[in-house]
Amino acid sequence: MLGALRKVVQRVNAAQSLEQAMQALVTSVKQEMSTEVCSVYLLNPEKTQYTLMATDGLKPESVGKVSLSLDEGLVGLVARREEPINLVNARSDPHYRYFPETGEEAFDTFLGAPIIHHGQVLGVLVVQQQQSRRFEEQEEAFLVTLSAQLAGVIAHAEATGALTSITGEGKTSRSKKSKAFQGISASQGVVIGTVKVMTPVADLAGIPREHCDNVEDEMARFHHALVKVRSEIHRLGRQLENRLNEEEQALFEVYARMLADNALGGEVVNKIVSDELLARSALSAVVMEHVRTFESMDDHYLRERAVDVKDLGLRVLAALDEADTSQQSYPDNVILVGEELTASMLGEVPEDKLVGLVSVHGSRTSHVAILARAMGIPTVMGVQELPYQRLERREIIVDGYSGKIHTNPSEELKEEYQRIIDEDIRLTERFDAIKDKACITSDNHPMTLWVNTGLMTDVVRSIEHGAEGVGLYRSEISFLLRERFPSEEEQRLIYREQLEAFAPRPVTMRTLDVGGDKALPYFPIEEENPFLGWRGIRICLDHPEIFLVQVRGMLKASEGLNNLRILLPMIASVTELESALKLVHRAFRELVEEGHELQLPQIGVMIEVPALMYQVHELSERVDFLSVGSNDLTQYLLAVDRNNPRVAGLFDAFHPSVLRALNWLVGECHRENKPISICGEMAGDPSSAVLLMAMGYDILSMTANNLSRVKAVIQQITLKDAKQMLEAVLKMEETREVEEYVKETLISKGIGRNLLHTN
Ligand code: PEP
Ligand code: MG
Repeated sequence: MLGALRKVVQRVNAAQSLEQAMQALVTSVKQEMSTEVCSVYLLNPEKTQYTLMATDGLKPESVGKVSLSLDEGLVGLVARREEPINLVNARSDPHYRYFPETGEEAFDTFLGAPIIHHGQVLGVLVVQQQQSRRFEEQEEAFLVTLSAQLAGVIAHAEATGALTSITGEGKTSRSKKSKAFQGISASQGVVIGTVKVMTPVADLAGIPREHCDNVEDEMARFHHALVKVRSEIHRLGRQLENRLNEEEQALFEVYARMLADNALGGEVVNKIVSDELLARSALSAVVMEHVRTFESMDDHYLRERAVDVKDLGLRVLAALDEADTSQQSYPDNVILVGEELTASMLGEVPEDKLVGLVSVHGSRTSHVAILARAMGIPTVMGVQELPYQRLERREIIVDGYSGKIHTNPSEELKEEYQRIIDEDIRLTERFDAIKDKACITSDNHPMTLWVNTGLMTDVVRSIEHGAEGVGLYRSEISFLLRERFPSEEEQRLIYREQLEAFAPRPVTMRTLDVGGDKALPYFPIEEENPFLGWRGIRICLDHPEIFLVQVRGMLKASEGLNNLRILLPMIASVTELESALKLVHRAFRELVEEGHELQLPQIGVMIEVPALMYQVHELSERVDFLSVGSNDLTQYLLAVDRNNPRVAGLFDAFHPSVLRALNWLVGECHRENKPISICGEMAGDPSSAVLLMAMGYDILSMTANNLSRVKAVIQQITLKDAKQMLEAVLKMEETREVEEYVKETLISKGIGRNLLHTN
């Protein structure tokens, strides 16, 4: 069964378009199951009907024409029940519905399996035959397994608009309908701009399908590149003359011939002409089609040929691009979009033109996201369904607040977003006015707001926003942007810059917190379960040489300033805490012995691992303060990977259990007379910040961009109101209920929606 499954999925994946994929699906299922008919019905975009999208066995002319309403026929029944239906006498079933145009009457045995993706029925896969026999249990299991595997492919096609092209609408895939794609908000703000698709060098598959203005020009450019590559191949062959025999050398001849006008070269030219494509787009389409064909072959030798074709394609691409680089131009308001944006790609666009970033892969903690936040560029990561290859030069909206991307935005949508952009500008002016004012509720309760930093640009922004101190300096960011571990002196200089910029205000420096999703390029860690693996303090305790160098760098940097606080991440036991403290004290002693004039800094522990919540007493005996890393604490309390877009909807700090845990934690700490701060994302969300203040957190630490927003909200409410809200919330049972209640209550107290990101 596995072999048959693999074959079907491979053939479907090798198809060039969704239309071909659906046809490959029905043909191969029919073949593998030795049945007479296989058809696929998909829900239309309006979600009102199931339409026959492909069939092998029914009349081909019925494709795209036969549709059933949601409660019609056996197809409707399979979808409604969300389970397979296996019938020997389909025609005698009361749900059976006859369509003369399909020629279906001949087939009486029916097996249908629903195609379900993330709990949504997308369609139904059906096999039928004349002979009256029940499909066997294994056959049913085969069809169900296949539907589950294909659901992702179909959902992706639906999201990217490829499905509509099957039914004939928008053949060019340039449909004008607005579409929204969900990703992960990585840097706040909204922009409307023009897409520039970034493809990594050597990625043929990622080249967008772009139309050209002049077919003749493109053909000429392509020919020029071909001539160059052919002569390059001949040269390579000659270079190896002495080391290869004649037969082996002939390979280079074959290579060169593959590029001839009656081979690959000719196919690309035809594609340029027929589809009016840019040479690189046509090259990518032709080469990738051959690569897929070779890769799906059973024969090992032929499968290997995919590598040769790809290599040739890349050589031609390089020749084309070489001629292009001088002509690279960027429109105004560029939004860089790519499968995997990298930090270096940012440098390719002139700074005054770059307004937004969108990446199909990656998370909030990817380098590019970290840089984007520091630079204040609205960014959305992990937009998995985005048809980025078709967006070149198209206008899109990046909503960095909600993590949404809107393609083909309508005029109304653009106006709505322009309103948000204008409001943001007004808010910035308003924030300017309060930046030097203290954060005090209207009934005079002071709330200390600190910032989270990582890069030097954060420092500038933080000071502009009137930050009172740093609650979390993520030291790993400067490690992430290098090619090796920074030396003690390099670290001292980096830390000194941060400490000096804020002195005499306190700066809480977290020791190296890598692992999990934060991988150092020069210290790779391959693990099945990285968030439960070797991360944070665990790595540092196993590598005291790295930890000691860092702590020494921090301590030396604090000489004469004395505003350093050290924070230990991912501690899960008193034993780990003791070991880390011993190392810090050792570094301190050694430096004093070396003649440095130092004060022992305050040392704190992060509460990120739920188990630690039950040892607050033991921790308090050993440290000066506690700081909650609510991002990780939420992830571990809810067992939801904080970076996995598939479960992003389940990651929510408004979950009643998370709120109760946080509330309980403050009580425990204050009973021990220890201050407790919170430095996860929820401290920077005005709605949750209000609850955290009511719980009694001593310090809220957040990215500088959120500081004024939180301050503006806190200044407008009373502690009494916040406490009443908290009391109500702690009795609630569901996340949504909490979220809605907090937002609505704040709005009813006169807080503007724009301050709460509920535009
Ligand atoms: C946290 O886990 O809440 C935290 C502040 O640390 P990081 O987001 O860097 O893991
Ligand atoms: Mg953390």
